[in-house]
Amino acid sequence: MIIQLNIRQRAEEKEESLSPYAAKSTESRGRAGYEEPCPIRTAFQRDRDRILYSKAFRRLKHKTQVFIAPLGDHYVTRLTHTLEVAQIARTIARALNLNEDLTEAIALGHDLGHTPFGHVGEDVLDELYHRGFKHNEQSLRIVELLEKDGRGLNLTWEVRDGIVNHSKSGVEILGPDWGLVSTLEGQIVKIADIIAYVNHDVDDALRAGVITEKDLTLSVVRTLGASHSQRINTMVSDIIINSWAATGCDKKVEPTIGMSAPVLEATKTLWEFLCKRVYNVNAAEKDTERARMVVRHLYRYFNEHEDKLPLEYRVYSDDRERRVVDYVAGMTDQYAERMAGELGLE
Ligand code: MG
Repeated sequence: MIIQLNIRQRAEEKEESLSPYAAKSTESRGRAGYEEPCPIRTAFQRDRDRILYSKAFRRLKHKTQVFIAPLGDHYVTRLTHTLEVAQIARTIARALNLNEDLTEAIALGHDLGHTPFGHVGEDVLDELYHRGFKHNEQSLRIVELLEKDGRGLNLTWEVRDGIVNHSKSGVEILGPDWGLVSTLEGQIVKIADIIAYVNHDVDDALRAGVITEKDLTLSVVRTLGASHSQRINTMVSDIIINSWAATGCDKKVEPTIGMSAPVLEATKTLWEFLCKRVYNVNAAEKDTERARMVVRHLYRYFNEHEDKLPLEYRVYSDDRERRVVDYVAGMTDQYAERMAGELGLE
Protein backbone atom coordinates (compact mmCIF):
# COMPACT_ATOMS: atom_id res chain seq x y z
CA MET A 1 0.00 0.00 0.00
CA ILE A 2 2.87 2.37 0.76
CA ILE A 3 4.27 1.72 -2.71
CA GLN A 4 0.85 2.44 -4.25
CA LEU A 5 0.58 5.74 -2.38
CA ASN A 6 3.88 6.76 -3.91
CA ILE A 7 2.49 6.10 -7.37
CA ARG A 8 -0.21 8.77 -7.12
CA GLN A 9 2.07 11.18 -5.36
CA ARG A 10 4.68 10.71 -8.05
CA ALA A 11 2.08 11.51 -10.72
CA GLU A 12 1.04 14.60 -8.76
CA GLU A 13 4.65 15.68 -8.44
CA LYS A 14 5.06 15.32 -12.20
CA GLU A 15 2.20 17.77 -12.64
CA GLU A 16 4.34 20.36 -10.90
CA SER A 17 6.51 20.50 -14.02
CA LEU A 18 3.51 21.39 -16.20
CA SER A 19 2.84 24.95 -17.35
CA PRO A 20 2.01 27.39 -14.51
CA TYR A 21 -1.37 27.77 -16.27
CA ALA A 22 -2.13 24.02 -16.26
CA ALA A 23 -4.91 22.77 -14.00
CA LYS A 24 -3.23 20.57 -11.37
CA SER A 25 -5.17 17.69 -9.88
CA THR A 26 -3.93 18.60 -6.39
CA GLU A 27 -5.47 22.07 -6.79
CA SER A 28 -8.83 20.78 -8.03
CA ARG A 29 -11.95 22.34 -6.55
CA GLY A 30 -12.83 18.74 -5.83
CA ARG A 31 -15.87 16.48 -6.03
CA ALA A 32 -19.42 17.17 -4.84
CA GLY A 33 -19.09 14.22 -2.44
CA TYR A 34 -15.80 13.63 -0.61
CA GLU A 35 -13.85 10.50 -1.52
CA GLU A 36 -10.53 9.13 -0.35
CA PRO A 37 -7.94 9.74 -3.10
CA CYS A 38 -7.00 6.75 -5.25
CA PRO A 39 -3.61 5.31 -4.27
CA ILE A 40 -2.56 4.99 -7.91
CA ARG A 41 -4.32 7.59 -10.03
CA THR A 42 -4.64 11.38 -9.79
CA ALA A 43 -8.16 12.80 -9.45
CA PHE A 44 -8.35 13.63 -13.19
CA GLN A 45 -7.04 10.22 -14.24
CA ARG A 46 -9.71 8.64 -12.09
CA ASP A 47 -12.42 10.79 -13.69
CA ARG A 48 -11.23 9.80 -17.16
CA ASP A 49 -11.55 6.12 -16.20
CA ARG A 50 -15.01 6.58 -14.69
CA ILE A 51 -16.28 8.15 -17.91
CA LEU A 52 -14.76 5.38 -19.99
CA TYR A 53 -16.49 2.68 -17.92
CA SER A 54 -19.89 4.44 -17.90
CA LYS A 55 -22.93 3.05 -19.66
CA ALA A 56 -23.50 6.35 -21.47
CA PHE A 57 -20.01 6.08 -22.99
CA ARG A 58 -20.75 2.60 -24.34
CA ARG A 59 -23.92 3.83 -25.98
CA LEU A 60 -22.01 6.40 -28.04
CA LYS A 61 -21.04 3.74 -30.55
CA HIS A 62 -24.62 3.40 -31.74
CA LYS A 63 -25.45 7.09 -31.91
CA THR A 64 -25.46 9.14 -35.09
CA GLN A 65 -22.95 11.90 -35.58
CA VAL A 66 -24.34 13.44 -38.79
CA PHE A 67 -25.40 10.71 -41.20
CA ILE A 68 -28.40 8.76 -39.97
CA ALA A 69 -28.38 5.01 -40.61
CA PRO A 70 -25.50 5.07 -43.13
CA LEU A 71 -25.00 1.94 -45.17
CA GLY A 72 -21.19 1.91 -44.96
CA ASP A 73 -19.06 0.80 -42.02
CA HIS A 74 -16.69 3.76 -42.15
CA TYR A 75 -18.95 6.62 -41.18
CA VAL A 76 -18.17 8.50 -38.00
CA THR A 77 -20.32 7.67 -35.00
CA ARG A 78 -20.60 9.65 -31.80
CA LEU A 79 -18.00 7.31 -30.30
CA THR A 80 -15.37 7.70 -33.02
CA HIS A 81 -16.00 11.46 -32.98
CA THR A 82 -15.37 11.50 -29.22
CA LEU A 83 -12.12 9.55 -29.62
CA GLU A 84 -10.95 11.92 -32.35
CA VAL A 85 -11.69 14.92 -30.14
CA ALA A 86 -9.74 13.29 -27.31
CA GLN A 87 -6.81 12.56 -29.60
CA ILE A 88 -6.64 16.08 -31.06
CA ALA A 89 -7.13 17.71 -27.66
CA ARG A 90 -4.44 15.60 -25.99
CA THR A 91 -1.96 16.43 -28.75
CA ILE A 92 -2.52 20.16 -28.20
CA ALA A 93 -2.49 19.86 -24.39
CA ARG A 94 0.75 17.87 -24.43
CA ALA A 95 2.44 20.33 -26.79
CA LEU A 96 1.47 23.25 -24.55
CA ASN A 97 2.55 21.41 -21.40
CA LEU A 98 -0.99 21.50 -20.00
CA ASN A 99 -2.78 18.72 -18.15
CA GLU A 100 -3.37 15.88 -20.60
CA ASP A 101 -5.40 13.78 -18.15
CA LEU A 102 -7.90 16.55 -17.49
CA THR A 103 -8.12 17.27 -21.23
CA GLU A 104 -8.82 13.62 -21.98
CA ALA A 105 -11.47 13.31 -19.27
CA ILE A 106 -13.38 16.35 -20.56
CA ALA A 107 -13.10 15.16 -24.16
CA LEU A 108 -14.37 11.65 -23.41
CA GLY A 109 -17.32 13.05 -21.47
CA HIS A 110 -18.31 16.02 -23.61
CA ASP A 111 -20.90 14.33 -25.82
CA LEU A 112 -22.35 11.74 -23.41
CA GLY A 113 -25.67 13.62 -23.43
CA HIS A 114 -26.33 13.39 -27.15
CA THR A 115 -29.70 11.98 -28.13
CA PRO A 116 -30.32 9.30 -30.73
CA PHE A 117 -30.11 10.59 -34.34
CA GLY A 118 -27.69 13.43 -33.58
CA HIS A 119 -28.90 17.03 -33.55
CA VAL A 120 -32.24 15.95 -35.04
CA GLY A 121 -33.14 14.16 -31.80
CA GLU A 122 -31.83 17.07 -29.75
CA ASP A 123 -34.01 19.57 -31.66
CA VAL A 124 -37.14 17.45 -31.22
CA LEU A 125 -36.65 17.07 -27.45
CA ASP A 126 -35.86 20.77 -27.17
CA GLU A 127 -39.13 21.56 -28.92
CA LEU A 128 -41.25 19.09 -26.90
CA TYR A 129 -39.89 19.46 -23.39
CA HIS A 130 -41.11 22.64 -21.72
CA ARG A 131 -37.74 23.35 -20.10
CA GLY A 132 -35.86 22.79 -23.35
CA PHE A 133 -33.05 20.35 -24.07
CA LYS A 134 -29.34 20.86 -24.71
CA HIS A 135 -26.93 17.95 -25.12
CA ASN A 136 -24.15 19.59 -23.07
CA GLU A 137 -26.48 20.07 -20.11
CA GLN A 138 -27.59 16.47 -20.51
CA SER A 139 -23.93 15.33 -20.51
CA LEU A 140 -23.56 17.06 -17.15
CA ARG A 141 -26.79 15.54 -15.87
CA ILE A 142 -25.54 12.07 -16.80
CA VAL A 143 -22.27 12.40 -14.92
CA GLU A 144 -23.83 14.18 -11.94
CA LEU A 145 -26.98 12.12 -11.53
CA LEU A 146 -28.05 9.48 -14.03
CA GLU A 147 -25.08 7.13 -14.13
CA LYS A 148 -24.74 4.46 -11.44
CA ASP A 149 -28.49 4.29 -10.84
CA GLY A 150 -28.93 7.86 -9.75
CA ARG A 151 -25.67 8.33 -7.87
CA GLY A 152 -23.70 9.88 -10.72
CA LEU A 153 -19.94 9.60 -11.24
CA ASN A 154 -18.96 12.23 -8.65
CA LEU A 155 -16.41 13.85 -10.98
CA THR A 156 -14.17 16.78 -10.13
CA TRP A 157 -15.41 20.32 -10.71
CA GLU A 158 -12.94 20.99 -13.57
CA VAL A 159 -14.14 18.00 -15.61
CA ARG A 160 -17.79 18.95 -15.11
CA ASP A 161 -17.06 22.57 -16.04
CA GLY A 162 -15.34 21.47 -19.25
CA ILE A 163 -18.18 19.12 -20.16
CA VAL A 164 -21.04 21.57 -19.67
CA ASN A 165 -19.23 24.47 -21.35
CA HIS A 166 -17.92 22.65 -24.43
CA SER A 167 -20.71 23.61 -26.81
CA LYS A 168 -20.89 26.79 -28.82
CA SER A 169 -23.03 28.39 -31.46
CA GLY A 170 -21.33 27.24 -34.64
CA VAL A 171 -21.04 30.64 -36.30
CA GLU A 172 -19.07 32.07 -33.41
CA ILE A 173 -15.82 30.13 -33.52
CA LEU A 174 -13.67 31.97 -30.96
CA GLY A 175 -15.95 35.02 -31.32
CA PRO A 176 -17.74 37.02 -28.58
CA ASP A 177 -20.38 34.30 -28.06
CA TRP A 178 -17.82 31.53 -27.83
CA GLY A 179 -18.60 31.00 -24.16
CA LEU A 180 -16.41 30.52 -21.14
CA VAL A 181 -14.63 27.45 -19.88
CA SER A 182 -12.62 27.87 -16.70
CA THR A 183 -9.54 25.88 -17.65
CA LEU A 184 -7.26 26.02 -20.69
CA GLU A 185 -7.74 22.25 -20.93
CA GLY A 186 -11.50 22.84 -21.34
CA GLN A 187 -10.82 25.49 -24.00
CA ILE A 188 -8.69 22.98 -25.88
CA VAL A 189 -11.51 20.41 -25.95
CA LYS A 190 -13.93 23.05 -27.17
CA ILE A 191 -11.78 23.87 -30.17
CA ALA A 192 -10.71 20.23 -30.75
CA ASP A 193 -14.41 19.37 -31.07
CA ILE A 194 -14.68 21.73 -34.06
CA ILE A 195 -11.46 20.47 -35.63
CA ALA A 196 -12.70 16.89 -35.38
CA TYR A 197 -16.17 17.48 -36.75
CA VAL A 198 -15.51 19.85 -39.65
CA ASN A 199 -12.88 17.42 -40.89
CA HIS A 200 -14.69 14.12 -40.41
CA ASP A 201 -17.92 15.60 -41.75
CA VAL A 202 -16.14 16.54 -44.99
CA ASP A 203 -14.79 13.00 -45.12
CA ASP A 204 -18.23 11.46 -44.55
CA ALA A 205 -19.92 13.80 -47.03
CA LEU A 206 -17.36 12.75 -49.66
CA ARG A 207 -17.99 9.12 -48.75
CA ALA A 208 -21.73 9.62 -49.12
CA GLY A 209 -21.28 11.36 -52.47
CA VAL A 210 -23.02 14.49 -51.15
CA ILE A 211 -19.99 16.58 -52.18
CA THR A 212 -16.85 16.04 -54.26
CA GLU A 213 -13.28 17.25 -53.62
CA LYS A 214 -13.80 19.91 -56.31
CA ASP A 215 -16.63 21.48 -54.30
CA LEU A 216 -14.31 22.52 -51.47
CA THR A 217 -13.65 26.26 -51.54
CA LEU A 218 -10.27 27.00 -53.08
CA SER A 219 -9.23 29.31 -50.23
CA VAL A 220 -9.93 26.50 -47.75
CA VAL A 221 -7.78 24.04 -49.67
CA ARG A 222 -5.00 26.62 -50.08
CA THR A 223 -4.94 27.57 -46.40
CA LEU A 224 -5.74 24.27 -44.71
CA GLY A 225 -4.55 21.65 -47.19
CA ALA A 226 -5.93 19.27 -49.77
CA SER A 227 -6.45 16.19 -47.59
CA HIS A 228 -8.15 15.28 -44.30
CA SER A 229 -4.83 14.74 -42.51
CA GLN A 230 -3.27 17.92 -43.90
CA ARG A 231 -6.22 20.01 -42.75
CA ILE A 232 -6.15 18.57 -39.21
CA ASN A 233 -2.39 19.03 -39.08
CA THR A 234 -2.67 22.68 -40.19
CA MET A 235 -5.31 23.48 -37.57
CA VAL A 236 -3.56 21.68 -34.71
CA SER A 237 -0.13 23.20 -35.50
CA ASP A 238 -1.67 26.65 -35.87
CA ILE A 239 -3.39 26.40 -32.48
CA ILE A 240 -0.20 25.27 -30.77
CA ILE A 241 1.78 28.20 -32.21
CA ASN A 242 -0.96 30.73 -31.48
CA SER A 243 -1.52 29.50 -27.93
CA TRP A 244 2.14 29.28 -26.96
CA ALA A 245 1.64 31.76 -24.09
CA ALA A 246 -0.27 28.92 -22.36
CA THR A 247 3.09 27.21 -21.75
CA GLY A 248 3.98 30.09 -19.43
CA CYS A 249 6.94 31.21 -21.59
CA ASP A 250 5.91 34.85 -21.48
CA LYS A 251 4.04 35.89 -18.34
CA LYS A 252 3.09 39.25 -19.88
CA VAL A 253 0.83 37.59 -22.46
CA GLU A 254 -2.64 36.40 -21.39
CA PRO A 255 -2.80 32.63 -22.02
CA THR A 256 -5.66 31.62 -24.31
CA ILE A 257 -6.29 28.89 -26.82
CA GLY A 258 -6.75 30.30 -30.31
CA MET A 259 -6.07 30.18 -34.04
CA SER A 260 -4.38 32.65 -36.38
CA ALA A 261 -6.73 34.88 -38.40
CA PRO A 262 -6.23 33.10 -41.77
CA VAL A 263 -6.71 29.59 -40.35
CA LEU A 264 -9.72 30.72 -38.33
CA GLU A 265 -11.24 32.31 -41.43
CA ALA A 266 -10.67 29.15 -43.48
CA THR A 267 -12.20 27.01 -40.70
CA LYS A 268 -15.28 29.23 -40.63
CA THR A 269 -15.57 29.04 -44.41
CA LEU A 270 -15.35 25.26 -44.23
CA TRP A 271 -18.01 25.17 -41.51
CA GLU A 272 -20.34 27.43 -43.53
CA PHE A 273 -19.82 25.23 -46.57
CA LEU A 274 -20.80 22.16 -44.52
CA CYS A 275 -23.92 23.92 -43.22
CA LYS A 276 -25.05 24.77 -46.73
CA ARG A 277 -24.09 21.59 -48.52
CA VAL A 278 -24.32 18.89 -45.85
CA TYR A 279 -26.12 19.75 -42.59
CA ASN A 280 -29.09 21.60 -44.11
CA VAL A 281 -29.47 19.17 -46.99
CA ASN A 282 -29.33 16.26 -44.58
CA ALA A 283 -32.08 17.84 -42.47
CA ALA A 284 -34.53 17.49 -45.35
CA GLU A 285 -33.87 13.80 -45.98
CA LYS A 286 -36.34 10.97 -45.51
CA ASP A 287 -34.27 9.31 -42.78
CA THR A 288 -34.21 12.57 -40.87
CA GLU A 289 -37.97 12.94 -40.97
CA ARG A 290 -38.31 9.34 -39.82
CA ALA A 291 -35.91 10.05 -36.92
CA ARG A 292 -38.03 13.05 -35.86
CA MET A 293 -41.15 10.87 -35.89
CA VAL A 294 -39.47 8.18 -33.78
CA VAL A 295 -38.34 10.61 -31.07
CA ARG A 296 -41.75 12.38 -30.97
CA HIS A 297 -43.55 9.06 -30.77
CA LEU A 298 -41.38 7.77 -27.91
CA TYR A 299 -41.65 11.01 -25.98
CA ARG A 300 -45.45 11.05 -26.22
CA TYR A 301 -45.83 7.35 -25.50
CA PHE A 302 -43.77 7.35 -22.31
CA ASN A 303 -45.42 10.50 -21.06
CA GLU A 304 -48.77 8.73 -21.39
CA HIS A 305 -47.45 5.43 -19.97
CA GLU A 306 -45.08 6.32 -17.19
CA ASP A 307 -45.35 2.80 -15.78
CA LYS A 308 -43.57 1.52 -18.90
CA LEU A 309 -40.39 3.45 -18.11
CA PRO A 310 -37.58 1.15 -16.97
CA LEU A 311 -37.22 1.04 -13.19
CA GLU A 312 -33.98 3.04 -13.17
CA TYR A 313 -35.82 5.99 -14.76
CA ARG A 314 -38.61 5.95 -12.19
CA VAL A 315 -36.61 6.55 -9.06
CA TYR A 316 -35.52 10.15 -9.45
CA SER A 317 -37.24 13.00 -7.74
CA ASP A 318 -37.83 15.03 -10.91
CA ASP A 319 -41.12 15.34 -12.73
CA ARG A 320 -42.38 12.76 -15.19
CA GLU A 321 -41.49 14.70 -18.33
CA ARG A 322 -37.91 15.10 -17.15
CA ARG A 323 -37.60 11.35 -16.58
CA VAL A 324 -39.01 10.64 -20.03
CA VAL A 325 -36.49 13.06 -21.56
CA ASP A 326 -33.67 11.28 -19.70
CA TYR A 327 -34.80 7.90 -20.99
CA VAL A 328 -35.38 8.91 -24.61
CA ALA A 329 -32.21 11.05 -24.79
CA GLY A 330 -30.16 8.12 -23.51
CA MET A 331 -31.34 5.75 -26.24
CA THR A 332 -29.09 4.71 -29.11
CA ASP A 333 -30.44 5.06 -32.67
CA GLN A 334 -31.05 1.32 -32.89
CA TYR A 335 -32.74 1.06 -29.52
CA ALA A 336 -35.03 4.01 -30.29
CA GLU A 337 -35.97 2.60 -33.68
CA ARG A 338 -36.65 -0.87 -32.24
CA MET A 339 -38.63 0.50 -29.33
CA ALA A 340 -40.75 2.71 -31.60
CA GLY A 341 -41.44 -0.35 -33.78
CA GLU A 342 -42.52 -2.42 -30.76
CA LEU A 343 -44.80 0.40 -29.68
CA GLY A 344 -46.62 0.43 -32.98
CA LEU A 345 -44.89 3.14 -35.02
CA GLU A 346 -44.80 1.91 -38.62
MG1 MG B 1 -18.55 16.83 -29.97
